[in-house]
Amino acid sequence: MFGFYSPHLATSYNEPMGAKTRATTTRARNTKIEILQSEIFNFSWLVHGFSTRVGGCSEGYGGSSLNLGFTEEDTRTAVEHNRQSFLRALGAGSTSWHMATQRQVHSDLIHYVNSGDLHPTGDGLITDSPGLLLGVQTADCLPVLMVDSKRRAVGAFHAGWRGTLKRIVEKGVGEMRRQFGSQPRDLRAAIGPGIHSCCYQVGEEVRDKFHSQFAYAAELFREARESNPVHEKYPLLFLTARAPGHGPEETLLFLDLVAANTRQLLDTGVPAKNISASPLCTSCRTDLLFSYRKEKGKVGRMLGVVGIRPR
Ligand SMILES: [Zn+2]
Repeated sequence: MFGFYSPHLATSYNEPMGAKTRATTTRARNTKIEILQSEIFNFSWLVHGFSTRVGGCSEGYGGSSLNLGFTEEDTRTAVEHNRQSFLRALGAGSTSWHMATQRQVHSDLIHYVNSGDLHPTGDGLITDSPGLLLGVQTADCLPVLMVDSKRRAVGAFHAGWRGTLKRIVEKGVGEMRRQFGSQPRDLRAAIGPGIHSCCYQVGEEVRDKFHSQFAYAAELFREARESNPVHEKYPLLFLTARAPGHGPEETLLFLDLVAANTRQLLDTGVPAKNISASPLCTSCRTDLLFSYRKEKGKVGRMLGVVGIRPR
């Protein structure tokens, strides 16, 4: 049902002249940029990719990393250099390419972009302009890329729990229909790496909100007992009693954003065979990816991009 993601080792790019690499870092100075791509987007006229943290020249996040967001801890120079390296590795580094990104606000705002304002406020971008890359920044939230193979149009969406609740992806399909006449059966969607249900703990209020919006909400949540190390080591001691110093065991709640967004795509009529999802969880794989949760907010940003090659 889901296509696979193959890590794609891009051509090697050297660090910029004069870039400093701390002696303590374990990453090699000339680590290659690693890009994840979906097999479902195998069109010669298309460029797409999901960045990882591997490679790059940012020093703030555990050594030479590919931070692509203008964050507090990083310098503008490093981020601009990283972005350029990422685009070059994708084959979109020439001056005939431009990149549109958004000031992301966990909304359901979707913009059609061609020229003019390439950095609107919102969480979805769509275009049919060749040479324009649409970018979504993430570090746990899901980047969802869409391609209309018949009409040659593309979309990029940012889906955290708030955007998912607001049906950003469902609305994205609707906007592509309205703007380009896209038929859902012609759409392909690639869900990039994000935080998965193994790690994405949420509060009861999030579940309540999803139940008020989706009849299938129960399928999107997983419950687990809070693990208690003392309890697990000496189970017989605690058959009837609680471990000392611990209250009643709490039930933890985990949200499956991939399932939620896949369901939205299916509901609009995108065929299951046209949907692929990365198996990588950002929180489990901080060796490869940035995770806002796992790294407690002091974290770089990755970019998921899609665009039509310039003619
Ligand atoms: Zn995980």
